[in-house]
Amino acid sequence: MDEGTRFSESLVERAPVVFFRRSADLESVTYVSPNSARVLGDEPEEITEGPGFWDAHVYVEDRRWYRRGLDGLTKQAQSEGEYRFVTPDGGYMWLHCIEYAERDDEGGLTGSIGYATDITERMTVLAVLRGAHAEMQSLNQELIEARDAAEAANVAKSEFLSGMSHEVRTPLNAILGFAQLLGMAPLEKDEQEGIDEILKGGRHLLSLVDEVLDIARIEAGNLSLSIEPVSLDDICEESLALVRPLADNNVVTVTGPSGDVPHFVMADRQRVKQVLLNLLSNGIKYNREGGTVRVGVDVLGEHVVVAVEDTGPGIPRHKMEALFTPFDRLGAEQTQVEGTGLGLPLARRLVEAMNGRITVSSNPGQGSIFSVHLRVADEPLVPAVGDVAAKQAGPAYAELEGRTIIYVEDNVSNLKLVEHILERRPAAKLHAALQGRLGVDLIRQHHPDLVLLDLNLGDIHGAQVLAQLKADPDTAGIPVVIISADATAHRVQETLAAGAIEYLTKPLDVGRFLAVLDELLWPGEKVEAERGVGSAGPQDRRGSA
Ligand code: ADP
Repeated sequence: MDEGTRFSESLVERAPVVFFRRSADLESVTYVSPNSARVLGDEPEEITEGPGFWDAHVYVEDRRWYRRGLDGLTKQAQSEGEYRFVTPDGGYMWLHCIEYAERDDEGGLTGSIGYATDITERMTVLAVLRGAHAEMQSLNQELIEARDAAEAANVAKSEFLSGMSHEVRTPLNAILGFAQLLGMAPLEKDEQEGIDEILKGGRHLLSLVDEVLDIARIEAGNLSLSIEPVSLDDICEESLALVRPLADNNVVTVTGPSGDVPHFVMADRQRVKQVLLNLLSNGIKYNREGGTVRVGVDVLGEHVVVAVEDTGPGIPRHKMEALFTPFDRLGAEQTQVEGTGLGLPLARRLVEAMNGRITVSSNPGQGSIFSVHLRVADEPLVPAVGDVAAKQAGPAYAELEGRTIIYVEDNVSNLKLVEHILERRPAAKLHAALQGRLGVDLIRQHHPDLVLLDLNLGDIHGAQVLAQLKADPDTAGIPVVIISADATAHRVQETLAAGAIEYLTKPLDVGRFLAVLDELLWPGEKVEAERGVGSAGPQDRRGSA
């Protein structure tokens, strides 16, 4: 045996490959290498015994492909394919086959030679990989569907809540407005108490609606914040002024931050104020008679920390986390102290949305410290403008000069409310338009001193009325005050940007409404502050919601 033959035999003996030759009609295997028993499980004699052995052992499902490849040899020089080959134990193995056509001088097919390699291992691994890939794809698909469903549910929830808030705000407007008006008249004690209850219940409902709506907005990622450098000292001062009446009522002393170093933070002004008001009112509500609430501002690295420290009962360690769980009042629901259980959860979400955080430390029996950490900012070149406080001035509005107001509003109960309120300003003459287009016509005819405008009108949207007025040089200068139940930030900003001078939300705060009218209609005149008119809710909406 020469070197070449020895080499070939030795290779064939070990390789997972069988070599074969076919007859001219390709039906019979006329030769197969002696290793066929090891590779395929069939002795060479069995394979070459008669026509059709190989074909019959190709797995049924793969026969079509196998035949197509074989038939190709009549025209082509080579065919290649992968198919399953049935083994003597009834199972199968995978073969990768390459066959070359053999032809005579005239090109007629005289047979083929080829080899089949056992690729079972590779195909098994591939099958496992394909299975895993398919499983991953289906898991991925499930995740995508779950995410889409959750997003859709969140949008639906947010839409439902904002719709509901609108629906609740409109009737609350009438309830709180008329109750405030009734409360201004001389009343018997029990009548006054009844009105106080209505106002208390209405305000509670209103803050509940607003807080639920805010939380839903944050969770749906729909909260729009205008983050800019704001003065924390100004916000503290304004907030302290707002909570002083509550502190006096509860016999609690509140003190502001000391020192004259200004502190600026990157935050949304109205939202910081909302958070601070919440912490301050908690410090006052959950305190003792004669107790104190102290506000301190300090710089801690990259953050400014505003801390609200009280001398209340404190919070036991095991209740700390529940502080931020919506509706969990930690037992305060058993007491006279009013609340919704939403203030702190909302405060935490708001502060986190402004890239800050809230921390709490407490000594049960001695008091608590709630600290808000916000990112420090450089002092802006133009100082932030504070909110215009409601005017507090002397009497004499009976002698005020006559003014005309046109109120464009399709809701009769709102109209009646404003008519009643304006009885307190006899110098103002009110005309009503129940539709947007009619409103524009009336305004053009009468050229009033002021326009009050609702946004959800029957025929055209209030924004269109505003646009038409601003586009006409004859009416562009007339101040337009919006009165709307839509308290969403983008709507407020959009409308103010479109030229409205003020945006008041329903339920209307009668005191604030009158203050705005006085400021616009009789600037510089001293007008008496209304007796007993408190805030009907978060009316502080100029440029925010
Ligand atoms: P609420 O509307 O009930 O005040 P919050 O979310 O603001 O809701 O607070 C949740 C609960 O945490 C309160 O009901 C009260 O039991 C407790 N709490 C909040 N602030 C203080 C505080 N400064 N001192 C003691 N307990 C507090």
